[in-house]
Amino acid sequence: MNYQQIFSEIFEDLKGVDNIGKVADYIPELANVDPNHFGVNLTTIEGDAYDYGDANIRFSIQSIAKVFSFVLAYSRIKSDIWLRMDLEPAGTPFNSLVQLEYDKGVPRNPFVNAGGIVVCDILVSELENPKSDMLNFIRTLSDNRDINYNSKVSESERLSGYKNYALVNLMKSFGNIHNDIDEVMDLYFSICSIEMSCRELSESFLFLSNNGIVPYSGEQILSSSRTKRTNALMQTCGFYDEAGQFTFKVGLPGKSGVGGGIVAIHPQKYAISVWSPRLNVKGNSFLGMLFLEEFTTRTELSIF
Ligand code: GLN
Repeated sequence: MNYQQIFSEIFEDLKGVDNIGKVADYIPELANVDPNHFGVNLTTIEGDAYDYGDANIRFSIQSIAKVFSFVLAYSRIKSDIWLRMDLEPAGTPFNSLVQLEYDKGVPRNPFVNAGGIVVCDILVSELENPKSDMLNFIRTLSDNRDINYNSKVSESERLSGYKNYALVNLMKSFGNIHNDIDEVMDLYFSICSIEMSCRELSESFLFLSNNGIVPYSGEQILSSSRTKRTNALMQTCGFYDEAGQFTFKVGLPGKSGVGGGIVAIHPQKYAISVWSPRLNVKGNSFLGMLFLEEFTTRTELSIF
């Protein structure tokens, strides 16, 4: 299939759409991005890569990193992580506090902020050097040694992260955070600040399309059963209270971030990443969602 051609046709068609999205500015440092960036990459499990637009410019991956931290915990940690969080769609915004009190400090799933914070707490407990282990893990997945944290972004979020501090304090009060809050939040804000391009994101998600095996190295990251489960979680929980819409319109497991990135995978076929910084009201890339909807519709390459 001529993906490059399809990308440019969809992009041309979407030019007529009024992009009503807004760049995330609740993390002040994120507001500095040029809102008109647009990039796409699709990489197949055979290693064929197709770029369009700003596919090789790095941006803040934000909540997309929750997949990496979850997979690291799920693959290496012996303790039962499902005692610490649930695996149900939340149906609430990514940073909501509402459900946490009802559920006594147990987050609905690992992909809302509360769940991502509990995963960081688990990693702080179980890893020798959580920050460098996390980075090395991502570098291994993408075969790219210079992927890094952006300390300006993590510091900016730390200084404005009142909601996230409220979440971690509420969970600590219920006994579901075991470590020092600042240490946990340092890891959380750091992983959100990681910068990657669409191409690097596609490459690093390919193991989820390939039964848990990194195609280029042959390394088994997750068993095929856990890979299936991780993909199921992305399908049901990857877009917060828009997970149903994403499934309905795009039909792929995926994960978004407030930096405007979205990654989605098709099992046994490909990973696709889109970046457009303007977000819809649910905190997902406005154009990215439309683009992926058009992509799976025109190519008939959704999982449904
Ligand atoms: N760092 C962001 C936050 O905690 C991540 C949110 C997101 O990308 N949805 O608010």
